[in-house]
Amino acid sequence: MDHFLYRDGALHAEDVPLSEIAASVGTPFYVYSTATLERHFKLLDDALEGTEHLVCYAMKAASNQAILKTLAALGAGMDVVSGGEYARAKAAGVPGERIVFSGIGKTREEVHQALTGGIRQFNVESEPEMQVISEIATALNVIAPITIRVNPDVDAKTHAKIATGKSENKFGIPISRAREVYDLAASLPGLKVIGIDVHIGSQLIDLAPFEAAYNKVAELTEQLRTDGHEISRLDLGGGLGIPYARSNEAPPSPTDYGALIKKCVGHLGCEIEIEPGRLIAGNAGLLVSQVIYVKSGEDREFLIIDGAMNDLIRPAMYDAHHDIVPVVESEVGVLPIPYDIVGPVCESGDTFAKGRHMPPLKAGDLVAFRSAGAYGAVMASEYNTRPLIPEVLVKGDQFAVIRPRPTFDEMINRDTIPEWL
Ligand SMILES: *Cc1c(COP(=O)(O)O)cnc(C)c1O
Repeated sequence: MDHFLYRDGALHAEDVPLSEIAASVGTPFYVYSTATLERHFKLLDDALEGTEHLVCYAMKAASNQAILKTLAALGAGMDVVSGGEYARAKAAGVPGERIVFSGIGKTREEVHQALTGGIRQFNVESEPEMQVISEIATALNVIAPITIRVNPDVDAKTHAKIATGKSENKFGIPISRAREVYDLAASLPGLKVIGIDVHIGSQLIDLAPFEAAYNKVAELTEQLRTDGHEISRLDLGGGLGIPYARSNEAPPSPTDYGALIKKCVGHLGCEIEIEPGRLIAGNAGLLVSQVIYVKSGEDREFLIIDGAMNDLIRPAMYDAHHDIVPVVESEVGVLPIPYDIVGPVCESGDTFAKGRHMPPLKAGDLVAFRSAGAYGAVMASEYNTRPLIPEVLVKGDQFAVIRPRPTFDEMINRDTIPEWL
């Protein structure tokens, strides 16, 4: 459920008509709903009620400071995957004790940054990384809390580019080798092993892969405890999917997901962490774009809009579906017609949808891409020297630009010209 609804035929973000935001900031733009962000966080937080837990928002999904502050105010921790994200989380006021550092390629600089700035835990993904954290922690005379990310060799049954829990994926340590790697961790100075981490992929629309992975984690917890390791925290990753095509997708509810977690690992007495990104931000954001031209091809109509693949890359990169709706609701009885909906970038991959049925549209009309809040703005680029589009946050009847559109001069002046030119 989200807070983008038609009222009197006009699509709103909470209490604000999208046409009003478009008139104020221009198109295209991203718009997020505070109420939806909060609702999704609370659903997950409530789903784990009764167990000690922390919901660490995977901020790579949407990392604007205003979004982070909105979630941090509700008590969210943050899952970061780079020094830049760590700095962003700190800048948004999130204390180090609520920041989890994930990722397979943490640099020495990033480890140093997190150890000096404070960290809840590193999710360690390899032995060389473990050595580096041990070295730096020892030099700084601090103890680095770590979990080890295990790769459970479970098929997440999701798009290949976002599956991470099979043995061929680059993530984690094969679960079959976990015991020896935990022994190594226990022997290294500067480290404190506190738990296990697992994350098998993104946009999972079935609970079965989670269940398989979490059962393996539960079994491993008991083995490791027998080996003498203190396992007090389980980081169960993110990955719960959202309905991108509302007409025919119904991913598991956060409540069912929470119940599954309790069923699989509840008896172990561990503190539970989860790292949802998409589930919190995905349906909390829209991309709003304007029709530039309607062009008749030989056998089809092209809707050429001012948003493009550089603004929202998911269709080009993951073959992702986004529901696209008119901002002015279609009147009853109007027959929809099929459009190929495309952006202006000079690549055929800059196609958002083919043969998509929409009410007849004309130049100047606004359309909204649903479910664009996660992996949208954060993956945007300035390809074709198209400015990064603004982000807007709505709360009730208020809205604010939370990242402005850069001017052409701002973009161009980021280049520096060598002396010899
Ligand atoms: C990307 C990622 C997440 C978030 O995944 P979602 O599908 O957005 O919930 C969580 N943990 C790790 C380690 C990740 O890489």
